[in-house]
Amino acid sequence: MRIGAHVDPTDPLAEAAARDAEAVQFFLADPQGWKAPKARDDAERLRDADVDLYVHAPYVVNVATLNNRIRIPSRKLLLGHATAAAAIGAKGLIVHGGHVNAGDDLAVGFDNWRKTFAYAADSGGFPLPVLIENTAGGDNACARHLDALARLWDALGDYEVGFCLDTCHAHAGGEDLLGLVDRVKAITGRIDLVHANNSKGAFNSGQDRHDNLDGGTIDPELVVAVIRAAGAPVIVETPGGVDGQAADIAFLRGQLGTGTSAA
Ligand SMILES: [Zn+2]
Repeated sequence: MRIGAHVDPTDPLAEAAARDAEAVQFFLADPQGWKAPKARDDAERLRDADVDLYVHAPYVVNVATLNNRIRIPSRKLLLGHATAAAAIGAKGLIVHGGHVNAGDDLAVGFDNWRKTFAYAADSGGFPLPVLIENTAGGDNACARHLDALARLWDALGDYEVGFCLDTCHAHAGGEDLLGLVDRVKAITGRIDLVHANNSKGAFNSGQDRHDNLDGGTIDPELVVAVIRAAGAPVIVETPGGVDGQAADIAFLRGQLGTGTSAA
């Protein structure tokens, strides 16, 4: 089981080494901006590395919304990030499930997700797995609650879609971590990546505030149980820089009984 962290994009491999991480996740552009990602000078080095790479799409991406001025550029930006992520040999592109605005019909949001995959298919399809991530907040989210997730997967039925399970988002979003992997897999059939984070926010608070694994409102043993049940690679998106994340990675390795990358 590969365990790693979300890191600064400047030199992801150095960040991996500093944390003894076997995987890293990073952004290819400003997560709050609409700029398309630029080609990376270190693409070949990244492709050849032993470290598994994951790319997180910008937070501004919301392909579900009924607002054309957000949805259309979101689609383009997502495909642009997928192309750039594939160019560095990334294993997956993580994107939040998105939401519709208050009063808008969530069914249209799910269909907008389908149209996003149809749009990508028109240019040959996404060149790497797109992993839709569950989110913590909002009343109109596509992937906060499992009933919505089931409708999303129904809408995407014909397409190859991956799933990223974030433990902070699930807990803060109001989904009990106990037995969650089985309930998710009954819908998605797969979990491609676990974002292993504790939560500063309480259960069902709707707050997206990550904490280190030994902090927060989640029993860390529950996070470990989720990882074990999912059997998927793990990325911690926790605070504390190198020290905080290295401690979280070491904690997980200790609990899971897996060796380090150096062993
Ligand atoms: Zn996450």
